Amino acid sequence: MSYEDKIRTVVPYTPGEQPTCTGVIKLNTNECPYPPSEKVKKAVREMDWEKLRLYPNVEAEPLVETWREYNGLKKGQVFAGVGSDDVLSMCFLTYFNSDKPVIFPDITYSFYDVWCEVYRIPYEVRPLKDDFTIDPADYIDSGAGGIVIANPNAPTGAALPLTTIEKIVASNPDCIVIVDEAYVDFGAQSAIGLIEKYDNLVVVQTFSKSRALAGLRVGFAMGCEKLIKYLNDVKYSVNSYTMNYPSIAAGCAAIEDDEYFRDIVARIVKTRENTAKRLREMGFSFADSCTNFLFAKHESADAGYIFEELKKKNIFVRHWNKPRIKDYLRITIGTDEEMDSLINALKELI
Ligand SMILES: *Cc1c(COP(=O)(O)O)cnc(C)c1O
Repeated sequence: MSYEDKIRTVVPYTPGEQPTCTGVIKLNTNECPYPPSEKVKKAVREMDWEKLRLYPNVEAEPLVETWREYNGLKKGQVFAGVGSDDVLSMCFLTYFNSDKPVIFPDITYSFYDVWCEVYRIPYEVRPLKDDFTIDPADYIDSGAGGIVIANPNAPTGAALPLTTIEKIVASNPDCIVIVDEAYVDFGAQSAIGLIEKYDNLVVVQTFSKSRALAGLRVGFAMGCEKLIKYLNDVKYSVNSYTMNYPSIAAGCAAIEDDEYFRDIVARIVKTRENTAKRLREMGFSFADSCTNFLFAKHESADAGYIFEELKKKNIFVRHWNKPRIKDYLRITIGTDEEMDSLINALKELI
């Protein structure tokens, strides 16, 4: 006899390494290389510390309201969570309660299958095409229990046009379609504008990548009022006070500094294009990226080897020893100086 069989055991998601040593060039978890807006710093400094005595606003106001207005949405169409991982986890728990399998690509954010496992949600993967793009036909009129698409997809960096996303949403009125837009600001079209038209669409975004706030943990779900209510009902049944007072204050300040947000995104996109050109000259190949990373394969050098050797030089990138993607490295776009160091290190290796 043992208690093991009575316990919910899972194989957890493995995040990229967060090295603690100094002098590291960290290109492995798609964080922003620039600091958050000065307005965020000011908001945190000027926060009323005494308020920490009280529970925070249960609806995460004014964060939810500020984000709602910024996106031109209606009251009740926004949900906030502790990073989009928390938001997505709540979405899986709320919207995927069918015996039919939920579907998503074989190569995508590797948290999706983990949430399915932990919540006992049946799922099936749909293989990406050989060029690592999604075949829309796999999702149109799917008859699935639910659909999850990261757009742009990770770790591939490729995006579907909004017209294709709309076809998928429109052809699946009997299930919820979650579009995870963690990287949308770096070059894809957001589906937020479709929320008014489709009551089966949920769009998820995060402040971790394009708004330089991975450490704050802020993410959002946006959808019609009914879907957001269902999501809140589940959230209030698990943990009512997920958004703490400092994140609400700092998150609002980040939204208010739109100029800074646009500026850092433009810088990252410029560095990405420049890095892409240099990597191609060195024998790397990859599809055009709509994100803040490149998913690159070298014509001769082994990805696992490059990954380990870069690490010895204190440059961290991401490598998965998994079928179909073991020849690839996912390289986050850092500052111009960091990318210079990467290119120089690669030149020594290859
Ligand atoms: C980074 C990422 C997330 C989660 O980010 P949070 O920090 O939890 O907001 C979600 N989806 C994808 C595809 C990501 O790459």
